[in-house]
Amino acid sequence: MSHHAVINPATGETIKTYPQISSDELEQVIESADKAHVNWSRNSSTDERAALLRRVGDLHEERRNELAAMIVREMGKPVDQALGEVDYAADIYRYYADNAQEFLKDEPITLLSGEGSAFMRSKSLGVLIGVMPWNFPYYQVARFAAPNLMTGNTIILKHASQCPESSAAIEQIFHDAGFPAGAYTNVYADSEQVATIIADPRVQGVSLTGSEGAGAAVAEVAGRHLKKVVLELGGSDPFILLSTDDMAAAVDAAVAGRLRNGGQACDAAKRFIVIDELYDEFTEKFTAAILACSPSDPTVPGADYGPLSSLDAADHLAEQVERAVAQGATLASTGKRSGNFYPSGVLTDVTRDNDTYHEEFFGPIAFVYRAASEGDAVSLANDTPFGLGSYLFTTDPEQALRVADRIEAGMVFVNLVDAGSAELPFGGVKRSGFGRELGRFGASEFVNKKLIRIG
Ligand code: NDP
Repeated sequence: MSHHAVINPATGETIKTYPQISSDELEQVIESADKAHVNWSRNSSTDERAALLRRVGDLHEERRNELAAMIVREMGKPVDQALGEVDYAADIYRYYADNAQEFLKDEPITLLSGEGSAFMRSKSLGVLIGVMPWNFPYYQVARFAAPNLMTGNTIILKHASQCPESSAAIEQIFHDAGFPAGAYTNVYADSEQVATIIADPRVQGVSLTGSEGAGAAVAEVAGRHLKKVVLELGGSDPFILLSTDDMAAAVDAAVAGRLRNGGQACDAAKRFIVIDELYDEFTEKFTAAILACSPSDPTVPGADYGPLSSLDAADHLAEQVERAVAQGATLASTGKRSGNFYPSGVLTDVTRDNDTYHEEFFGPIAFVYRAASEGDAVSLANDTPFGLGSYLFTTDPEQALRVADRIEAGMVFVNLVDAGSAELPFGGVKRSGFGRELGRFGASEFVNKKLIRIG
């Protein structure tokens, strides 16, 4: 059983619970999504779908205050960051509305021989299920729903059980924007029901953002039933500092890269790898700056960060930090945890035989490592099971390109952090998953790229 409930992580109060969907209702949801694909997707034009998506973006903007307040309650995001997330989601819907014609246009193929012509046409696949996490409730849905509704796929959305209110609000927006019944349906389902949906012959694919465990569980069912999968899992992104002419700015970027969303982002900078000659200065200034940040009431604008998303999340992070220290790491931290409000901290002396060297920390704790050389920094950066994003700071443009080329990750940001945007493809390699979201590539995952060859 899953428990779909709003539990305010700042107070521990259960505000509202939501009933799980029944098997009969689930059957109707799948049927309705399939019907919508047959009757609406196949008969609607690209421009009609784009107009609906634009309206979804506009409705996010119109409702931004109430939408933001919901996720402050559900997962403790500071309200100004919550507003920023709603705006970003709106941008994503509009981006796919604006580019629908371009992304879906026929692509001619130059024939090597023979008469006639050939081209590729982009067609929808059918019903998709999205399984989404709590850390960016609007953004995570937007980057899955926008490109797929643009293409004409229909969507069943299973959000994290701690986000039932925001997930209902998203469904309401699709309804109010004018999408027909079945084009987008929110379900309060448990893992078994997710497996039932994936297995259903009317369903063509699944996209999941979340933990490795959830990704593996979903991919296993999908594999058994031969369904296409996109996975966006964890990360332990390196922040590599090789040279700088502005240490204060580099430190600011490092703190922002680690603490955004209370450190609960898959693509947060988590491992700070610093060239020998800058290590002491960086570590001292970074530690001072990050320890100066503390968690506070997320409803008050300007919080450095809020509580962690749940009691489980805070307990898990505490256990990881304890284990890191027990195995030899040194922790710099200001204070004690209070409920789910978790103090920021820096771990050094984390050696390769420390279990936590290989783990993702989902909270305000940073690892700092010393690198003897550029090559050593690259080796450290790549010595992880993950390969989502990465951040590289250097004043040498040639070095930037050389190192960017060698980092095993789906994304490399040079001299900047928090630079994600609707047009920039997002995704990883290794245990961070496969497939891409956002940008042009996010619009080509769940597409029948149909060859039409005319003789
Ligand atoms: P989960 O991976 O458990 O949750 C993500 C989504 O997957 C939720 O909708 C969840 O549903 C669903 N889910 C979980 N297990 C299954 C399953 N077996 N079959 C189908 N769906 C499933 O994340 P947690 O909230 O437990 O977070 C744990 C860790 O995961 C974090 O510490 C972090 O490392 C990582 N994570 C990464 C994220 C990212 O952005 N890449 C986002 C969130 C977490 P339900 O909520 O009902 O359990």
